[in-house]
Amino acid sequence: MDKMTPEQRHHCMSSIGSRNTRPEMIVRRWLWRHGFRYRVSVKSLPGTPDIVLRRQSTVIMVNGCFWHGHDCGKFRIPSTNTDFWRNKFERNQARDRRVYKQLHDLGYYVLVVWECQLAPARRQATLQALSARLAEIYLDTHQAKPRPYGDYEESLPAIAAET
Ligand SMILES: [Zn+2]
Repeated sequence: MDKMTPEQRHHCMSSIGSRNTRPEMIVRRWLWRHGFRYRVSVKSLPGTPDIVLRRQSTVIMVNGCFWHGHDCGKFRIPSTNTDFWRNKFERNQARDRRVYKQLHDLGYYVLVVWECQLAPARRQATLQALSARLAEIYLDTHQAKPRPYGDYEESLPAIAAET
């Protein structure tokens, strides 16, 4: 039985594309709930990254294992038109590497979250690792050093009076 209206079905079909996919939404909801703020599908950056966190200088790519050719159980080159598919996956992977390098050269950390890492049994651990890594990156990029205990004030360098 199919109870979807044509609009719902269209919405459902279009969400199968690369934008607003379910794995990406899992990551976005987690980040938002944990206080990370981000922009999505940023067209001004190479590869239109899924999620961009400016404060952490980080982009997060949520990759489907099939299209991005992840070396995991979920990815298998189809047994028909094998050459076509092999070519396609190689091109996809080459494009991914090019995009990651460009983002890196622009000063971004590039974190890849694979679809298979968001399977229910692994999801929690993956998302916690993601949060931990983002916190680490934030500290690295902001050079947060603990203030020495007891140092409440700093003196400015002596400035010679004008004569
Ligand atoms: Zn995978």
